[in-house]
Amino acid sequence: MLCQADLAKQRAKDLLDPTTDIGRAHLKEQKKKAQEELDFLLHKKGIKVKQPELPEGVDPKTVLCEFFKWNCCTKGDKCKFSHDKAIEKKVRQPQP
Ligand SMILES: [Zn+2]
Repeated sequence: MLCQADLAKQRAKDLLDPTTDIGRAHLKEQKKKAQEELDFLLHKKGIKVKQPELPEGVDPKTVLCEFFKWNCCTKGDKCKFSHDKAIEKKVRQPQP
């Protein structure tokens, strides 16, 4: 028999699994929310969120995701940009 903790764990797993119904619904909901947030930023604040242009040879993982900065990235772990707010500090270390 499944206990509460197991059920919660399973639900959390399903939520993140796009092959399940609730996973798909969750993803859709997240995307909708992110889109609303982007619309809000654009129309109310005049901010157009766009990923930074990458100079050739630059690893996107060393660049902070613009959408993440505004809390509206839907790509999560699959995003090619970094979701680590400290990344800019890490990358811009003083040259030796
Ligand atoms: Zn992102």
